[in-house]
Amino acid sequence: MNVLVINSGSSSIKYQLLNTATEEVLVSGLVERIGEGDGRLKQKNHPGTDAEKVIEINQAFADHEAGMVMVIDLITDAENGVVADKSEIVAIGHRIVHGGENFFEPMLIDDEVVDGIEKVIPMAPLHNPGHLAGINTTRRLFPDAPQVVVFDTAFHQTMPPKAFLYGLPYELYKELGLRRYGFHGTSHKYVTGKAAEMLGKPVEQCNLITLHLGNGASITEVRGGKSVDTSMGLTPLGGLIMGTRSGNIDPAIVRYLHDRKGWDIDKIDHLLTKESGMLGICGSNDLRDIHERIAEGDERAELALEMSVHRARQYMGAYFFDLVDVDAIVFTAGIGENDEVYREMCCRELEPLGIELDKTKNVSWSGESAIISTGDSKVKIMVIRTNEELAIAKETAELVSGL
Ligand code: ADP
Repeated sequence: MNVLVINSGSSSIKYQLLNTATEEVLVSGLVERIGEGDGRLKQKNHPGTDAEKVIEINQAFADHEAGMVMVIDLITDAENGVVADKSEIVAIGHRIVHGGENFFEPMLIDDEVVDGIEKVIPMAPLHNPGHLAGINTTRRLFPDAPQVVVFDTAFHQTMPPKAFLYGLPYELYKELGLRRYGFHGTSHKYVTGKAAEMLGKPVEQCNLITLHLGNGASITEVRGGKSVDTSMGLTPLGGLIMGTRSGNIDPAIVRYLHDRKGWDIDKIDHLLTKESGMLGICGSNDLRDIHERIAEGDERAELALEMSVHRARQYMGAYFFDLVDVDAIVFTAGIGENDEVYREMCCRELEPLGIELDKTKNVSWSGESAIISTGDSKVKIMVIRTNEELAIAKETAELVSGL
C-alpha cells in the first residue's frame, strides 16, 4: 500500500511516500519557510538508491495548501513523478507530537479526533497547530483517502501514575492534565519491536532500556514490551541534557533568572529550549563538531559531552534498578546510531552489572541493526536504526486495511 507520511510543522511539511509491502521509499521531501517570501522545496525520488533524483524548487508558498499542491504535482508529474495520479496514494499518516491523555493508539481522522488534537494545543503550542494545518490541508486535497494520526505520546500511555505524575497538587493533574507524557514514542516502540525480533522472544516478554539520542533525546524503560517510564515530561524539554534543550533543572532556576536578570517567561523558555543543553555549555549542539573540538583540546566541548553522557547514565541506572532483569539496552537515532564514543561512554565500566560492550563490534557494526555486546554479556547491547516514517506508514496501513 502506498502511504504518504506527513510531519507538518508551523512553517514546514516533511513528507515521505512509502510502499508498506516492500518498505521502499518512493519519495522523501521537505517544504520549508511556508508563509514567508523565500519558500523552498526539496524532494528526492527513490532516495538512497542508484536511481535517486533530486528536485529543488525555490518559490513562495503562501500556506500549507500551496506547499502540498506542489508536492502532489511533483509526485504525480508525468515525466518525473513516481505514481500516475493521486488515487495511487491510498492513505495518509500524520505524525502528531502531543496526544495528551486523549489518545493512546493511532486513530482514523474524523472531526472528533481533530477536536481532540486542538484541545491539546496548550501543551504543545509549537507543534499541534502546525500538525492541524497539515491535516486540514490533506483532508481537503485527498477527500477520498483515509487519514490516520500517529502520536509521539501514545506508546507512553502505559506508564503507571507513580511514574507519570509530578509531585504537584493532584487537582492540577485533573484540571489541566499536568503530568508527564513522554515523546519519541513511535521510535521507542519501533526499536522495541525490532529488539524483540533480535532477542527471539515475544515482545511481551522483553525488558529493555531504549535510548533515542538525536538532537532531541529521551530514554525509555520498557517492561514486557510496554513503556513504564520515560525521561521526557509534559513537553519534550524534560529529562536528558540535549542538543539545545536543558532537560531537567531545578525548577527554582526559573524564578532565580527572573529575579536576577529581569527576564520574562518567554525569554526563559527560549533559553531553556534553544540556547541550553550542549550548545549552552560549549557553543555547539552537533556531536560531530563537539568531537572535533575535543580533539583540538577544547575543554568545554569535553565537558558538554561528559555532562550529556552523565545524565544519560543516570536514567539508564534508574531504569536498570527498576527493571532488574534487563534483556537489552538499545541505542537509536542520530547519536545513538552513529556515535560510537557516546555509546562506549554510556556503557563504560558496567561489566559487574552484566553489561559488556564489544569494543570492536561497537565501532564496526553495519546494516540496519546489530548486537554490539560481547557473547558473554548478560544484557545485550544493540544499535537499531530507527525509522519513524516506516513505523507511521505501517500503523496507518494496518488501521486502513481493517476498514
Ligand atoms: P533530530 O531528528 O532530533 O533532529 P537526529 O536523530 O537526526 O536528530 O540526530 C541529530 C544528531 O545526531 C546531530 O546533532 C549529531 O549530534 C548526531 N549525529 C548525526 N550523525 C552523526 C555522526 N556520524 N557521528 C556523530 N554524531 C552524529
